Amino acid sequence: MRKPQPVYIALGTNIGDRALNLQTAKNWLSRKAIITRESSVYITPPWGYTNQPDFFNQVIEVNTRLGPRSLLRFLQRIERKMGRVKLILNGPRVIDLDILFYGDRMITSPNLQIPHPRMVGRAFVLVPLNEIAPDLVHPALGISVQQMLTDVDTEGVIRL
Ligand code: AMP
Repeated sequence: MRKPQPVYIALGTNIGDRALNLQTAKNWLSRKAIITRESSVYITPPWGYTNQPDFFNQVIEVNTRLGPRSLLRFLQRIERKMGRVKLILNGPRVIDLDILFYGDRMITSPNLQIPHPRMVGRAFVLVPLNEIAPDLVHPALGISVQQMLTDVDTEGVIRL
């Protein structure tokens, strides 16, 4: 049997009751994963497409028996159940769920990259991740989360 490895998931939302959206997503996740750590919730300015409300962002650590691909499918099912519709690239969303790390696994396939490539340089992911896993080492870059955060502008990422 596969030994569970710590998995880190980023949650983001900027439509409707954002605190409730985070809670609803975590409730769904709890059906197939045990949440072992949770960062604080951070309010962050939108990235990319900026004409939209601020995001609530959070990172959680989970243990799950789902492998990376099944976990991705499960997260996408939660996004769909919660009514996420993609209208604009990087635009407003009810919930966005990304797998940041799956233990020290490295996966590069067209629809799944782990570690998540877009976390590098993004304060809204790295600040909450650093709160719960500062010493976690990126398996490809060989540096810790704390080190990844060194040159990142964290202004505007406010702990709620
Ligand atoms: P987004 O708009 O950020 O939710 O991106 C969704 C797309 O990212 C989906 O098509 C996924 O297949 C893809 N994707 C690639 N790697 C990951 C990952 N580590 N976690 C979540 N989605 C991923």
